[in-house]
Amino acid sequence: MSNVDDRADVVVVGGGPAGSTTASLIAMAGHRVVLLEKEHFPRYQIGESLLPATIHGVCRMLGVTEEIEKAGFTVKRGGSFRWGVNPQPWNFLFALSPKLSAANSTAFQVERMKFDEILLRNAQKLGVDVREGCAVTDAVQTGGRVTGVTYTDESGQSRTIEARFVVDSSGNSTRLSKYAQGKRIYSDFFKNLALFGYFEGGGRLPAPDSGNILCAAFDEGWIWYIPLSDNLTSVGAVVHRDQADKVRGTQEEREKSLMGFIDRCDIVRDMLAGAKRVTEGTYGEIRTRKDYSYTNDSFSAPGIVLAGDAACFIDPVFSTGVHLATYSGLLAARSINSVLAGTIAEDRAMAEFEARYRHEFGVFYEFLSSFYDMQANEDSYFWKARKVTNFSATDIEAFVTLVGGVASDEEALTDAESVVRRFRGSSTALEDAVERTGTMQTESGERMFALFGTKVVRDVMDGMNEVQARGAYGENAVNPVREGGLVSTPDGLHWQEPATDLTAA
Ligand code: FAD
Repeated sequence: MSNVDDRADVVVVGGGPAGSTTASLIAMAGHRVVLLEKEHFPRYQIGESLLPATIHGVCRMLGVTEEIEKAGFTVKRGGSFRWGVNPQPWNFLFALSPKLSAANSTAFQVERMKFDEILLRNAQKLGVDVREGCAVTDAVQTGGRVTGVTYTDESGQSRTIEARFVVDSSGNSTRLSKYAQGKRIYSDFFKNLALFGYFEGGGRLPAPDSGNILCAAFDEGWIWYIPLSDNLTSVGAVVHRDQADKVRGTQEEREKSLMGFIDRCDIVRDMLAGAKRVTEGTYGEIRTRKDYSYTNDSFSAPGIVLAGDAACFIDPVFSTGVHLATYSGLLAARSINSVLAGTIAEDRAMAEFEARYRHEFGVFYEFLSSFYDMQANEDSYFWKARKVTNFSATDIEAFVTLVGGVASDEEALTDAESVVRRFRGSSTALEDAVERTGTMQTESGERMFALFGTKVVRDVMDGMNEVQARGAYGENAVNPVREGGLVSTPDGLHWQEPATDLTAA
């Protein structure tokens, strides 16, 4: 029998980037936060290539910039791609965005065991009551509101904790997302599987791009090549679900499949010539992930908020997962802080959270869909599969459902046709830009610049810049993302009404 053992203002479930960010930013506003994490950190996680918005935005707000700089992670200036019709690799450099200052235009490739632990220990320092080895088993509801959770503590004892808000940041295997009164919708477009392992002694791209993620398309899909340190490289193949039989099986069978994929991807095969696969310890296993592209059709309900992978995830190709996790953590914290402070009503605060999170998700969804679509080698098995699933009536419906939620202000809800038209236009524009961009000539800003001229890339940059600007400069409120929407307070921790423009007639 479980009694109420404890009370907190907020219970956060899961100590990944979404959970640590949300918990820290709520504790910074002076509230009592308990974070329940089923593992003991450091623990393994995939998702090693980060974006500048996380590093220069959210991490700065959390106060971990110095610690992260000291950790010695590989500096990432952007991405190098062997993708699209261009047979030559080309670069995507953050610094070439007219919106990013030189100082804020890099990110890191991180071993998630180390990165996630920095964020979790920082949450502890900020006053969050972090309880590791505590697996949440269910949510508690009272009168249609989530009022707490039950969990099994380190000693195996069942416990209950009450809170005014529960944040579900327990990742893609969440048990609580159903309490947000919605269901998980899997993407019809990104029906991919991933198979990944680690190598020692792999080659590096020529300086100054040696820290870039390399993404290389091949017949069955594409491969990521992430330089985690001078010696350690993360290598993963993303293939269509139809390849499932190659991805399952024993370690030996998985190794054979991964090495087979690598063998058919020239650029990665050459980089790994002379490298040795890690076969022992945390990095010794060849892991798989499937069905990872989804969104919940509701991100919140009375008393509960979903952040990070518990709410949605798109695809690894542009390293958006940790960005969406930390950004949604920031948005969730602002909404909860405002309600706890009594300054904004709960339904309004949650509508703001959901609208902004869906907007960011929608922009990236469009970007990544366009990115996959611009692969013009339609003879290949993988890319044909992408085309086949694309733009059918059901896909349009799925797309609209994906980017538009009940509380969202997405254009997709009201004008699906233009979204689809733009989506088509985006991939053509991207393809064209990549063509003009040319080869891997990183010193030539002009040649890279074409990519940033496309609307879809500008939108992505705009979204990330808002987060960065606040982290870097503590800048005052950005514009509301929708009519009647809220803006952030100057400290970034709450919402407030936008200032009335007195100059308007
Ligand atoms: P998680 O990091 O999954 O953290 C959730 C935490 O909750 C875990 O620590 C878990 O132990 C805990 N937990 C789970 N259940 C319970 C419970 N019942 N009780 C208590 N605790 C619980 N993202 C990038 O940014 N860059 C990349 O390069 C990238 N590559 C990827 C490659 C693949 C193949 C995939 C599938 C994803 C990739 N991602 C990438 C996405 C990234 O892995 C996730 O988006 C990110 O980890 C989400 O963070 P999170 O905090 O929401 O969840």
